[in-house]
Amino acid sequence: MAELESGQGIRVVTPSDHTFTLDEEALSKLLLREDIKDRSVVVVSVAGAFRKGKSFLLDFFLRYLHHKYHVKDSGDWLGGEDAPLKGFSWRGGSERDTTGLLLWSQPFLTTLDNGEKVVILLMDTQGTFDSESTVKDNATVFALSTMLSSVQIYNLSQNIEEDDLQHLQLFTDYGRLAQQSASGKPFQRLQLLVRDWSFPYEHPYGADGGASLLEKRLEIHEGQHVELQSIRRHIAACFEELACFLMPHPGLNVATNPNFDGKVSDISPEFQTSLRQLVPMLLAPENLVLKKIAEQQLKAKDLFLYFKAYMTIFNG
Ligand code: GDP
Ligand code: MG
Repeated sequence: MAELESGQGIRVVTPSDHTFTLDEEALSKLLLREDIKDRSVVVVSVAGAFRKGKSFLLDFFLRYLHHKYHVKDSGDWLGGEDAPLKGFSWRGGSERDTTGLLLWSQPFLTTLDNGEKVVILLMDTQGTFDSESTVKDNATVFALSTMLSSVQIYNLSQNIEEDDLQHLQLFTDYGRLAQQSASGKPFQRLQLLVRDWSFPYEHPYGADGGASLLEKRLEIHEGQHVELQSIRRHIAACFEELACFLMPHPGLNVATNPNFDGKVSDISPEFQTSLRQLVPMLLAPENLVLKKIAEQQLKAKDLFLYFKAYMTIFNG
């Protein structure tokens, strides 16, 4: 059994000057491995603006996956109070990250109750939205991650704003261009995740509060600007499943202490409670969403081919 410490985020896609480079060798090492290639894939991706806690969250996904599918004991997955958080690198100081798409080097294997053998892959995206041009450049990174994942987690800070919905429209536009399947919705689950939610008395933390906030934001009503209506219709038409989860603030250590190393005892109890709800909701065996493209369930080896095909389209 591989330790989490020996894994790493592999950068498989790197954008530069409006083209993308695919690290085919690294990707094939992961997806075409003998014990992996014929398994159905679950791809969980986290996307959204820079420095909003995406990689931090993914490291809790890794803890859960490691515990559930490698260690396989029934103890507490959230781990020791003092263990530092390992995995995708987070908090990188103030230097600007290059953008791109990363996969965790360790695949997690399981067999579902129906006998289906699956492999779970985690995808981290890096992007910025700090100017008009970066929004556009990154739209492709996000489009790619939406197209290649079965669950896209759209990580937002504080609230769901009109801008966030507009960005989403842009990503899915790119995605739809590349994916011209006539029937069915092109993408599977979109999970909005609002960080630092501070109005729990209006919509409580968690999935129920998230559902009621999302319903409110996606409401289409008479008198609303046509463009706002069309964004909402478009989003609903793109995904088979829409959900939203409201996360509390993780506490000042996480947000501001430069020496914070991720240990659980420094994280607010509300945030811990929310993690215990959110993570199994996405990654417990009964909640896994298998990746489909054009109604076809994908094996890891098929996903490899789609990576290549989509790169060609975006670079074409
Ligand atoms: P990414 O660029 O979106 O991947 O962000 P990182 O995961 O690298 O985290 C950036 C910073 O935000 C780190 O200093 C984290 O400690 C902090 N952070 C992580 N989660 C949260 C959160 O939910 N709220 C706040 N306010 N800060 C967070
Ligand atoms: Mg990151």
